[in-house]
Amino acid sequence: MLMRRKFFTMLTAVCMAAFCSCSFGGRGSENAEKADFFAMDTYMSVTAYGEGAQKAAELAKDEVQRLDKLWSVTDENSEIFAVNGGGEVSVSGETAQLISFMLEMAKRTGGALEPTLYPVVRAWGFTGGENRVPSGEEIQELLKNVGYEKVTVSGNNVTLPSGVMLDTGAVGKGYASDKAAEILKENGVDSALIDLGGNIVMIGRKPDGKEWKIGVRDPEGNGVVGVISASDCAIVTSGVYERNFTAADGTVYGHIIDPKSGAPVDNDILSVTIIASDGRLCDALSTALFVMGKDGAIEHWRTHKDFEMIMLCKDGQAYVTEGIKDRFEADEKHKGMKINVITG
Ligand code: AMP
Ligand code: MG
Repeated sequence: MLMRRKFFTMLTAVCMAAFCSCSFGGRGSENAEKADFFAMDTYMSVTAYGEGAQKAAELAKDEVQRLDKLWSVTDENSEIFAVNGGGEVSVSGETAQLISFMLEMAKRTGGALEPTLYPVVRAWGFTGGENRVPSGEEIQELLKNVGYEKVTVSGNNVTLPSGVMLDTGAVGKGYASDKAAEILKENGVDSALIDLGGNIVMIGRKPDGKEWKIGVRDPEGNGVVGVISASDCAIVTSGVYERNFTAADGTVYGHIIDPKSGAPVDNDILSVTIIASDGRLCDALSTALFVMGKDGAIEHWRTHKDFEMIMLCKDGQAYVTEGIKDRFEADEKHKGMKINVITG
């Protein structure tokens, strides 16, 4: 059952890039070049340092905007829109790769990441339109068309049965952040911070040689609960506070849906932050592990161990995998928070 959660009133990006750039100095700080833009329904920025940074940041921005056009579920000219029309559709190699990756991750997470959830997400009004609470019967009807095993990818051809629809919302930003990082590196950048609506990718270290500081958003407040020190990796958080709405009875419904029930997730987790080498893996797992709940997420880490995570739970405690524990520091206000270390 969904509970009243009036304390989830905050809507913002997750990992706060603002916390990454407070103490630049030394080599190249005067060459910081920033491209700010709006894409994939969120605010984004690419900050690059050193020679050629300005051109590289612009090219990275162009790449993300190009992928947005390709993968938008609502843009009639996008490849995902064409695929969602049903039947066999030929798409670009990168779209076929994105869909294959989503299917792979759906399988790996036992369907917690469910790329075909779009009709249900849309019924709750999370992609365009008005937020509303669909009836149980409506959800059951829509769930008949949900199931990643209904999707076939053969080369660049994607086939969906009529009524089945893909949603790239849980993975697209992470995938795009990896592509943006590739563009920056190809253009000679060895120090950059990409923030695609809270999907963070760091290239190298800060220009002064120090690690980046990435804030982990307080899911129940305005600031952060602490900071992760990291370099050359990706960090992505999923949380109910990112996007939600309050129904007439005061219930707060978040944008991450449990594919089993078709209703917004309401479990023991407030937010999940994933740290790994790829943005796409982080993005897929942050959404999926949020669906799984604390125990499922811990089990998933113990099975795969190709990522680190920080879970903030409703019990007021943090659960942190052993590989990241020394890199995470709670801020003054959260020094008293119990941090449980997850071991293998
Ligand atoms: P994220 O912010 O990366 O956690 O992704 C959330 C977005 O993915 C939502 O806004 C929906 O568009 C979509 N979504 C919601 N629930 C799921 C799910 N269980 N599996 C896949 N995509 C989902
Ligand atoms: Mg995600």
